[in-house]
Amino acid sequence: MMLSSSRWIRRGLSTAAAEERTITVTRVIPHHETPETPPPREGLARAAGLHAHVLEAYPVRSDWTVPEIRAIYNMPLLELVREATLVHRAYWESRDVQRCTLLSIKTGGCTENCGYCSQSTRYKTHVKPTPQMTVDQVLEAARRAKEAGSTRFCMGAAWRQLGNKRRAFSDILEMVEKVSAEGLEVCATLGMLDPTQATQLKQAGLTAYNHNLDTSRDYYPSVVTTRTYDDRLDTIANVRAAGISVCSGGILGLGEAEHDRVSMLHTFATLPGGHPESLPVNALVAVSGTPMEDTPPVSVFEMTRMIATARVVLPKTMVRLSAGRLEFSKGEQALMFLAGANSIFNGDKLLTTPNPNVDDDAALFDTLGLTGIKPRPRAD
Ligand code: SF4
Repeated sequence: MMLSSSRWIRRGLSTAAAEERTITVTRVIPHHETPETPPPREGLARAAGLHAHVLEAYPVRSDWTVPEIRAIYNMPLLELVREATLVHRAYWESRDVQRCTLLSIKTGGCTENCGYCSQSTRYKTHVKPTPQMTVDQVLEAARRAKEAGSTRFCMGAAWRQLGNKRRAFSDILEMVEKVSAEGLEVCATLGMLDPTQATQLKQAGLTAYNHNLDTSRDYYPSVVTTRTYDDRLDTIANVRAAGISVCSGGILGLGEAEHDRVSMLHTFATLPGGHPESLPVNALVAVSGTPMEDTPPVSVFEMTRMIATARVVLPKTMVRLSAGRLEFSKGEQALMFLAGANSIFNGDKLLTTPNPNVDDDAALFDTLGLTGIKPRPRAD
């Protein structure tokens, strides 16, 4: 059967008058099939020729400009989603979605002043500070996460930096070793790190380190003033130099403008050493008692636009649909998967904020035909 030649894809979005391509997809009918018994469809999205054209149109680039990213971000939304879907399918096995678990191993009592955070000592919120969990408690939680389908386990501690917390760090290194021995990817988010600490974490078996930029450089001082954007970038550089993969993303709904979202994506797209391996996209969960408690919620369309732009600009990065997912219906989450999200967080709590329960997520995966494993890159 010959599907008719079609003009499907423009060669790159950065130039408006992009050249159109003609792609021919040929499918041969096996002998046992008859016109009465149509074969299962593979779908055009799996066509190797189409993938090749998408890879050519959207190579992995670290020389993106802000106007180029803005042009993508400002596309008509469904056009942008269509483009992101093609990129997703060209670079990834697109049914694969990694489930991660994020555990707060030390909650509250943080001296930083991040305006969105329930764990800062500067704000009166529902969060009660708790001491660091024991190694055994964390290991037990990691085993439960694995049973629930997670393949990545992230441990978060609420403080500015690891600093001189020797006892706490020694326990964390043991947690990393033991969780890693369970066959899970291990991630940690422990505030600022120096190069030696990053190396020790790497030696203990840490896979990834999460350190979000949250927003643009320009808007950052409106969110937090107890550290700088460059402090964040320094820790990311230390993590990368130690050979740990970088997980860094942002939060929508902090009061930022669209140009801040574009600017943040530009920072990730031009990060020294390459794109982050992982990019969490969070929707602010406005917590009572924080300075951002009355901030209006972000819409599904804002989230989708951000995810789709990230997918196009950072094609080999895992885009993680993170905090705030409970605010979106299953249909809205489906749109975000279509736009290129390929990871979610598992479990009914994300640090201190609520998250969909595991059974609901399993049902959603069933409905959408998603496979809860670590996505396999299709293209190198
Ligand atoms: S986001 Fe992290 S660093 Fe900022 S106040 Fe909360 S726990 Fe502290």
